[in-house]
Amino acid sequence: MLIIKDILNLKLYLKAYQEKGYSIGYVPTMGALHQGHAKLLKQSQNDNQKTVMSIFVNEKQFNKKEDFDKYPRNKGRDYDFCDSYNVDIIFEPSTEEIYQDNKPKLKNKYFKNILCDQFRPGHFDGVITVLNELFSVIDTNKVYFGEKDFQQLKIVEKLIEDKFPNLQLVPVSTERSEEGIAYSSRNENLSKKQLQEFITFHNSVIQFTKSLDRKSQINEANNLANKFITNLADQKFDYFEFRNTNSLEIEGNISNARLFYAIYKGQTRLIDNIEL
Ligand code: AMP
Repeated sequence: MLIIKDILNLKLYLKAYQEKGYSIGYVPTMGALHQGHAKLLKQSQNDNQKTVMSIFVNEKQFNKKEDFDKYPRNKGRDYDFCDSYNVDIIFEPSTEEIYQDNKPKLKNKYFKNILCDQFRPGHFDGVITVLNELFSVIDTNKVYFGEKDFQQLKIVEKLIEDKFPNLQLVPVSTERSEEGIAYSSRNENLSKKQLQEFITFHNSVIQFTKSLDRKSQINEANNLANKFITNLADQKFDYFEFRNTNSLEIEGNISNARLFYAIYKGQTRLIDNIEL
């Protein structure tokens, strides 16, 4: 396994792979690796001869410096993790390496003012800015993104359509723990009590979705969803609503929708989406 920090070296290795005719898969991450990331890796290794993972905590996508500072980081463990999954290259650039010429932030035009974009203004500008840089230097055949961050997946799909037509986006379904919650780097910031509360919350949400008539319109189901979440008196949340899986609009019925939520346990913001 190679750990590469600079773009020049990375390009040399990728070129050598390409000359040998290898197909290359790319898994972008912010580190603090877990079973969700492993699912992306395994999918890439199944589809390609070589797999590159990037680890880069992108300051530009955090609205609050405090949230960026608190983001979990554990380099040593991440290297062992990648080694155990036979990753070929870890690309772990510094901020200076990625944002060399101080270009202005890109502005996201898609799926605006809803879900995470409404509550984390500018977040997706930061996401597409870094991905635009990463996709420009990491020239691979396929890139892997998780459905856990569903709005991000839809926005990246648009970025790729607009600017990287030769790159194939492969969506990967959410990997969950035995208790049902999605693996997430942010779970590391939860105390034992908060983790248990989150598991209880998530499972009551699953029960709620099961109680709904699948022919309900999304707007009707959202009235019930709103009652459900506001009845949990001290549960802080940003959003808790069904949206159409394709358009992310409030249209159609819930059989072609997902329930999206962003809630808090203490200071930690947790997002997920549930397919019916
Ligand atoms: P992150 O390191 O949180 O930026 O995530 C890197 C990639 O892993 C993104 O494409 C995420 O959607 C994906 N991912 C994170 N958690 C999971 C999970 N539990 N299951 C599947 N993919 C995930």
